[in-house]
Amino acid sequence: MNYIKKTDAYDIYIEPSRKTIVIRQKWKYIWSVASGLPNWSYLEKKAWHQKADNVIWLQWGSHFVFWALVHDENNSNVSLHKKEFNLEFDIQWVTTDQHWTANVKKIGASEDFGSKVNPSDKKIYLAHTDVKRRIVSNINQNTVKHEFGHTIAVNDEYGKLNGNYYDPIYVNDTKALMNVGNELRARYIRDIKIKVNKMIPGVTFATFLDK
Ligand SMILES: [Zn+2]
Repeated sequence: MNYIKKTDAYDIYIEPSRKTIVIRQKWKYIWSVASGLPNWSYLEKKAWHQKADNVIWLQWGSHFVFWALVHDENNSNVSLHKKEFNLEFDIQWVTTDQHWTANVKKIGASEDFGSKVNPSDKKIYLAHTDVKRRIVSNINQNTVKHEFGHTIAVNDEYGKLNGNYYDPIYVNDTKALMNVGNELRARYIRDIKIKVNKMIPGVTFATFLDK
């Protein structure tokens, strides 16, 4: 039996038979190009989506481990169920019922694009180059991997750039993904964990980052 919870930002599937928890997110795309560049072909769109899905699946997935804690009726006794669940991530390209609208722009070589996520209206803004790792000044990260973090409710951790929301507690953790680095941190699945822990009566999960 699977447990399913749908939220406005992603859907959660707990699959006990596979010992897997899947975060499934539906993206509707709006494709655009900078002036002078050729329009997106269907094959280019398909390849871009597959690459983005792959980056998120590979670089976010199979790194977080959930241990099931089974509570008794009075919540006075908690035992560790010997079941370890893996957290996986899946991005689906949809044309309707999306969680997020992803605006992806083909940009010129010298164009500076401000990739971002607007949680309030569920919009993602990306450049076609964002599926690759970006190394400029102090930044060393895969942009799609970073922006995906915002879609699961993680704030930026670097200094107050552009007056944006940020979490000053982690400002010195510069190797972290939601700062200017590329590494995951256990705190990034806080929002997912809160929701997962409300899905199965009598069961909560302890979570770990498994590097
Ligand atoms: Zn950010």
